[in-house]
This record gives sequence, structure tokens and C-alpha cells, in this order.
Amino acid sequence: MNTKIWLSSPHMGTAEFEFVKEAFDTNWIAPLGPHVDGFEEDLAAFTGVAQVAALSSGTAALHLALVLAGVGRGDEVICQSMTFSASANPITYLGATPVFVDSEPETWNMDPLLLEHAVKDRLAKGKKPKAIIPVHLYGMPAHMEEIMAVANYYDIPVIEDAAEALGSFYKQQACGSIGKMGILSFNGNKIITTSGGGALIGDNTADIQQARFLATQARDAAPHYQHSHIGYNYRMSNVCAGIGRGQMLVLKDRIAKRRDNFHYYQTQLSALPGVSFLQEPRGFFSNRWLSTVLIDPVLSKGVSREMIRLALEKENIESRPLWKPMHLQPVFEGAPAYLNGVSATLFKNGLCLPSGSNLAITALERTVNMIKQLFEK
Ligand SMILES: *Cc1c(COP(=O)(O)O)cnc(C)c1O
Repeated sequence: MNTKIWLSSPHMGTAEFEFVKEAFDTNWIAPLGPHVDGFEEDLAAFTGVAQVAALSSGTAALHLALVLAGVGRGDEVICQSMTFSASANPITYLGATPVFVDSEPETWNMDPLLLEHAVKDRLAKGKKPKAIIPVHLYGMPAHMEEIMAVANYYDIPVIEDAAEALGSFYKQQACGSIGKMGILSFNGNKIITTSGGGALIGDNTADIQQARFLATQARDAAPHYQHSHIGYNYRMSNVCAGIGRGQMLVLKDRIAKRRDNFHYYQTQLSALPGVSFLQEPRGFFSNRWLSTVLIDPVLSKGVSREMIRLALEKENIESRPLWKPMHLQPVFEGAPAYLNGVSATLFKNGLCLPSGSNLAITALERTVNMIKQLFEK
């Protein structure tokens, strides 16, 4: 059997283990400590925000962002439909309802025109959405200026889901730093990892401090355990933050390699009939977390997305269909949705190719050759 080629696997540098060892040597084995502070500072410097709270996951970060936005039972929150379920799940943790908005074809992210239509329609139905969650999918920035214009006009806070977009920039601004708050993820498959973790980022110091407070069981200032708020156990551990500090030292290399992967696939495959790649609009910079490809079944002479996926699987090469939109998920059946068909088509025709920053050129060649062979048949 050929060696397995993974979609996106963890890629450690050389300093991570030293940071972790330091945590052990100093016995900072807790959900606080100098590495947590240091990782937060590193992330703030990289993204240009005033404040960062390092947390146990991106999902936890989104949950806290929604708490801070005052989301509660019976409320509605607008969410991009084309995304991973973790963008929408925390809305339901708070007893609120997600309202899904479809994508535009240029970035595959929230369509600003459809967003405005959705906001107007919810207002007409007597409910003002409490927050808007756009996503920078696969690292490609959303059309933030247009989204922020709608959000500001209707005075609704934007929480950017930048879980896949650390290192992506929209007109020089880091993804996650543009809305009221943003969330990052350091899960094992993301561009950098802490084995599991996330962060809430923003410029409002009071908000992020409140997030840290809620994330450590909401303990009031008292010698005994006193609580006036419902708390969570969502802080990042000092051991994980040590991994994160090491990963920050190689983040720029990881972005460069992921972008090289994309460039290689595009150069090798874009001449094939019906095959196309997601382009960066002017002023957009994608970290190319995952390289994705679209197969137009009308032009591709019988080769479908699924044929490619199965052929790669047979060769021990992991690939995966694009995210299945939330409005098509059984668990969100019946949730309000504003649709234009874009995300459904992307799901039907799109494929994520092996994209790790640790892939050898031979792995990329194997993948490309398999795909080319299918088109030659
Ligand atoms: C990974 C991911 C999350 C969740 O992050 P975790 O750290 O895994 O909880 C949220 N949204 C998107 C778009 C993601 O890809």
C-alpha cells in the first residue's frame, strides 16, 4: 500500500517541545500561566488586535462571543450556511435560532446582498438578529466591507469566524480583527495547532477581559468561591499554549507552504476541462488553509468530484467534499434560510485536496498524477 497522504495533519516546528518542557520544568500545568500570556501576546501582535483570550477551542470562543453579544433564548443569529457545523452549534447552546445566509461565488462566503435581504426580512417579521457570523472559509476572506456596511447600518455586531483563516488578510487587515470580535481555532487540522484550542480576539478590552472571566468559571473577586454569573471552563492550558508559542514561530512558513501547495495544484490541473480554482480578489490574501478545486460536471467529460475522491481514496490519498451547507444538514432542518443555490452547487462539485504544510512534493505529484489519469481515460 502507498503511504497515506493526509488532508491536513499537524506540523510541528523545532521550538514547540522546548516550550512544553519549560511548562513541565516550572510546573505550570494549568489553564493559566506564562505561556498562555505569551501566546495571547504573540497572537495580538500578529493580528493587530488589542486583546486576545486563549481558550480551549474555537467553538468555545464562538460560544463566549455570543454570550458577550447578549444572545439568549428565543433570539436569532445570522450565520453563513456554507461552513463547518461549529460556526452554528453555539447559537443553539444559548437557546437561540440560527438564520442561514447563502454564499456569493467569488469567495464562497456570506453574500452581502442576501445578508441585507435577510436582515430586512427578519426585521419585517418582528425580530432583530442579535449577531452576524460570516466565515472566512478555507482561509479566503469574506467581502468584509460590504458585510460590515450592512451590519453597521442595522447596528448588529459581527463575530468573524476566522477559525480557518489565521494568516489571511482582507485589505491589509487580519481576518478576525475586522468585526466586533473574531474567533480562531488551533485544532489539529488547522494551519497551526495547539493539539486543540482556540482564541477570542478583538479591540474591546472590557469584552475580552469579560471572556477570560467567564472562561474561568466566572469567579467573583472574593476569598471564597462567589459567583454572580454562569461560568464556563474554557481557558487554554499552559501546556497547549506552549505548543502555540512554538507554532507562532513557524506560522509564516506554514502560510507560504500552503500557498505553494495551492499554486502547484492550480498550475498542474487548471488546464483540465471543467476544473477551476478559487481566486483571490484584489486586496484579498488567503492563507490557503485547504486547496480546493471545483469540477464542472457539464464540461469535465464525465469526470465527477466523487470519481476523483474515490480514485484518490483507492491510492490512500485523503480528500474531502467541501463543507455541506448548514441549511442542508438534518440537525438544522426548519431553520430559516436565505438561499441562492451557490453553496449547494459548491457542495456538489467541490473537493478539498491534500493541503498540509508537511506534504512532500512527491505527495503532491502523486495526487496530481492520479487526477490527470482520470481525465485521460
Ligand atoms: C475548526 C472550525 C471551528 C471550530 O474550531 P474548534 O477549535 O475545532 O472548536 C469553527 N468554525 C470553523 C469554520 C472551523 O473550521
